Formats: sequence, structure tokens, C-alpha cells
Amino acid sequence: KAMAIATVNPATGETLRTYEAHGPDEVERRIAAAHEAFRHWRTTPFAERARLLRAAATLLDEDTEDIARTMTLEMGKPLTAARAEAGKCAKTMRWYARHAAELLADEHPAESDVRDSGADRARVHYRPLGPVLAVMPWNFPLWQVIRFAAPALMAGNTGLLKHASNVPRTALYLGDLFRRAGYPDGCFQTLLIGSAEVEGVLRDPRVAAATLTGSEPAGRAVASVAGDVVKKTVLELGGSDPYIVMPSADIVRAVKTAVTARVQNNGQSCIAAKRFIVHEDVYEDFTERFTAAMNALTVGDPLDESTDVGPLATEKGRADLEELVDDAVRKGARVLCGGARPDAPALAGGWYYRPTVLAGITPAMRIHQEETFGPVATVYPVRDAEEAVTVANDSPFGLSSNVWTRRDEDVDFFVRDLQAGGVFVNGMTASHPALPFGGIKRSGYGRELSGHGIKEFCNATTVWQR
Ligand code: NDP
Repeated sequence: KAMAIATVNPATGETLRTYEAHGPDEVERRIAAAHEAFRHWRTTPFAERARLLRAAATLLDEDTEDIARTMTLEMGKPLTAARAEAGKCAKTMRWYARHAAELLADEHPAESDVRDSGADRARVHYRPLGPVLAVMPWNFPLWQVIRFAAPALMAGNTGLLKHASNVPRTALYLGDLFRRAGYPDGCFQTLLIGSAEVEGVLRDPRVAAATLTGSEPAGRAVASVAGDVVKKTVLELGGSDPYIVMPSADIVRAVKTAVTARVQNNGQSCIAAKRFIVHEDVYEDFTERFTAAMNALTVGDPLDESTDVGPLATEKGRADLEELVDDAVRKGARVLCGGARPDAPALAGGWYYRPTVLAGITPAMRIHQEETFGPVATVYPVRDAEEAVTVANDSPFGLSSNVWTRRDEDVDFFVRDLQAGGVFVNGMTASHPALPFGGIKRSGYGRELSGHGIKEFCNATTVWQR
């Protein structure tokens, strides 16, 4: 699929600007610059790297209003959420500026083990790998990139960003941000290229590794090429996170959080709660309240501060979502609310879809297995904790999970048995710079954020000395 690199406003369908892709010479120039920059950047002191990352964070704070509007115009997230995204990025940059040196400090094995290895001294030293290619999605167009760039740059790697084709303005802003902050040329650059050009960049011997956030097909394509040339990858792919509600839960809070967890970012988040698995004792109560709250959300122009749910980012995204809902309804699912585009004539030009709750889900329905990337929730009644785990794990994905209960026994059981990269108890999944983020199964592998994230693109070097 060759998508034009363009900014198209999802609220109106209007093409605001089309961009010329970088040609082979420009791509070559940028790879060479990333390679060249690495030769010096790899040995810059942590204090210098931290100074530059803080400078970039300060610029981002100053630019918040502008870049937030850019994101909203490019991919339709509510403006308030776009501002919050910029703030979270600046916070994460400062977190890595502060902690990278300690996270990558040399490790010293126990004295007895050192002697047992025959050495007088031994240590593990973390060295950077080189230019890392980042293939990134449009759903959190700043955050997905910063979550990679902040640790990668602090570790001494350089970055090449291939952003999604529908967020070129944000992509160009990011390249510019690091340049304006004073980073040496080539440390972080944007490549304006389509997905067909990714393979060539990844095969280039000067590119050391790749990270990808996006769909499973995109992840598979990049990981296959990387496997062929034996390069490290981190993959953060889709999710269909369960949200389990047990009888002891605070139902009012569980409902309120469920709505936010499902419709944040217009429902287009990998860690959104998507499958609501509810104990039969509270199923009716939860489902009634949840449906009412979903139905009461304001769908509208994402630039309007009172909007809860804006349009989907792309026309294809809405078509995919509609197909999943229609397939389920055809196979007997009950629409508790939504299930269609909004009627309001003012919204007819944009790619809007109403917040939707579906019940009566069976394994024959595509929605049972596939990710819903939009404001569509499925509800499942279950008899007990055992059945809740069985339903939760009956998914190809394993990104994160949510559990609502006041019983410690429940917490222990779910933490032991849920197949996911995270278990969030009495809250919704959210990332934090200090906590590892990533999944298992077809949600991908590797971790971002925290010490785990910064070490993914490091060479853990054993130094043995006599
Ligand atoms: P994609 O996975 O297609 O896009 C993500 C990034 O990968 C983009 O930069 C894209 O470039 C690139 N890409 C796509 N295909 C390839 C390929 N074969 N080789 C190299 N790079 C590639 O996401 P879509 O926008 O198509 O969304 C489709 C679905 O993916 C969603 O409905 C959702 O289920 C899932 N998704 C999950 C995300 C998450 O956060 N985990 C984020 C986004 C999507 P280009 O834009 O030029 O095609």
C-alpha cells in the first residue's frame, strides 16, 4: 500500500498539505549523517546528553499549543489530549535526562563469581549500538517517538525516524526539535519515506537496529527483514486488553474509568481496554451504567474543548472498524449503543463513529480475536475468576490488562495467570517513564521505557580482566 505523505484533516476529510517524499539521495545523505554523528555521539558524557535532552524538553513545553494543534489537525485527537501528550513527552525526556547515567552504570558481579571466572576484575559495560531506525504510528505521534528517542539518545545511539505517512508535520517537527535543541547534526533525523522504502534503510549496514510500533503486519514485515540481516528489533504491536470487573469492585469508579480506558484517543490506543469481562453478579449493573456513559459522550470536532470523542484518524480506519462491528452484528451480537456513524449533518464530512457497546460476543465473530481501533467495546459475562482469565487469555494479543477487585486473593490469581505485559489493578493501563512497557504473544516483544527500555538498544559488554 503506497499512501501519499500528506496531512488530511480527519474532522473534514480535507487534504491540508501533501509532501514530497525524500528521494534515494536524500535518504543516503541522512543515513550517512546518522552514521557519522554516532562516531562522536557514542562517547559524549551523560551530562552533555542530558543537557541537550532538557533543552529539547524546554522547547517542547514552549511549543505545546502549536504542536498540539498540529497533531489534532493531522490525526484528530481531542486538543486537550494532544496538549497532555506533549506534556508527557517533556516529562519523559526529563526523566531520562536525570536517570540514564544510573540506569546504564557498569554492573559488577559478586566478588566470588569474578574470581570463579578466573578474572581479577570483571564488569558489564553498556555501550550504544549505532543508528536505530524507528518506524512509528500516528496514534500518539509525539509520544511514540519520544518514548524511543529519549532513552536511545541518552544511551548514545542516533535515531532515524520513519513516521506514519499521515503525520508528516509532526514528523518534521520532531526532526527540527532536536536540531533546535542543539544536538549535533545527524543525531536525530526524520526520513520522509513510504513504508516500501523501510526495507532498504533497514538493510543498510550502517543501520544497527530497529524499533516499530504499529500493526502486526507492519511488525512482521520489519522483523522479517531484520531477521534476515540479524539486527535487533523491539516490536510494540496491537492489543485487545481485557478489563475484568469482579463483584467486590467499586462499580462507579470501574465504569467511569472503563469509559476513559476505551475511548481515550478516540479509541485508537494499543493499551486501550477493549474487552470488558464482567462477573455475572455485577454484569447487569456494570453494563447498564457503562452503556449509558458511553452513549452520553460528546462526539465532535476535536478542536472543540468540550469534545470527548473526535473522528478516527483515517477513512480506512473507520471502514475497518465498521467491518468488525457489522460482522459481529451479522453473527448475532447485540448493539447496546452506537453501532453506526453519528447523524449530525455537521459531522458528515469527517471520519466519525459513535461510541459503541456490543454484547453477545461469540468466538465466531472477528471482533472476538481482532483489535478494535476505535470507540467500540465488547462486554462478556463470566461466572467466576477462572472463567474471566480464560476469556481474557483467549486472544492472540498480550499487551496489558486491567482488573477491578478489592480482594487480595483475586489480585494474586490474576497477576499469576493473565497473559500480558502488564496488570493494572483498580485503574487503567497507562505508561510511565519508570515502568517497563510492552507485550507478549502477538503484541510484540521487548520493552520500552524504564531501565529495560534503555538497555534494549545497548551492547551489554562483558569486560574480563586479569
Ligand atoms: P501500520 O502498522 O500500517 O503503520 C505503522 C507504521 O508502520 C507506519 O509508519 C507505516 O508506514 C509503517 N508500515 C506499515 N507497513 C509497513 C511495512 N510493510 N514495512 C515497513 N513499515 C510499514 O498502521 P495503520 O495506520 O495501517 O493501522 C492499522 C492497524 O494497526 C490499526 O487499526 C491498529 O489495529 C494497528 N495499530 C496499532 C498501533 C499501536 O499503537 N500498537 C498504532 C497504529 C496502528 P505508512 O504510514 O507509510 O504506511
